[in-house]
Amino acid sequence: MQNLIDPHTHTIHTHHAYSTLAENITIAAEKRLEAIAITDHFGLQLPWLMDKREYTLENHLKPALMPKYMRDVRVFMGAEVDITGFDGSLAGDEMPLSFFRHPECKTYAEYILATKDVVIASMHYFDGNRSKGIAENTQMYINVLARKGVDILGHPTRCGLAFDWEEVVAAAKSYGKMIELNNATLHSRPKQTDINRKLMELCAKHDAPIAVSSDAHVCFNVGDFGLAMDMLKEIDFPEHLIATRNLAAFETALQNARNAE
Ligand SMILES: [Zn+2]
Ligand SMILES: [Zn+2]
Repeated sequence: MQNLIDPHTHTIHTHHAYSTLAENITIAAEKRLEAIAITDHFGLQLPWLMDKREYTLENHLKPALMPKYMRDVRVFMGAEVDITGFDGSLAGDEMPLSFFRHPECKTYAEYILATKDVVIASMHYFDGNRSKGIAENTQMYINVLARKGVDILGHPTRCGLAFDWEEVVAAAKSYGKMIELNNATLHSRPKQTDINRKLMELCAKHDAPIAVSSDAHVCFNVGDFGLAMDMLKEIDFPEHLIATRNLAAFETALQNARNAE
């Protein structure tokens, strides 16, 4: 069982991460990964970014400007976009876009969703995010999964809210989206190991694809999947559902996510 793609890594663009794009790619090459995604935060973690500074936003890793391969590693330019509301709102939904390019995009969120190679939507915090119950929380994730351009539901357990995981997994499957198994969550929140194991068992039951990531905030953690892979082996997780096992599988999973209606 292998995982040759790291779909979730951060660089100094994130401000609370510590390595450059080149450093992440160098470690990915040393570890013989086939691909990584650069998925810096787009949301409340970056107050300077949400300050309507369009020039800076315009430079949020434009895929068109980057070589697809660096050091023989396929590099996907992505974003980790914050979930900002129970209706499935994402960071940037409220911000009108005024770039002269991309006239089809009316908001920053639409721009990010339309132009990134990989979009992870994840919950960190928003005002009132602990105010609802399991039904509303579950519907929030379903609303997010339904949004075109969202490819991966990021570290689903990390926020500590209650969800009906079976419904979340069934929605991910029906929308063709990936559920993340985030190695950093298993490392920093060992108490969430059991709930992640349960989530993975449900993915296996529903034939739903997963993405195994490091969520590295320093280059030396790029490609760290040890805890996640140990868990998948322990539960005899079906290898064909690991969308990040190799580049071809990941590209197919991204296509499925983008084509889903
Ligand atoms: Zn995150
Ligand atoms: Zn992250």
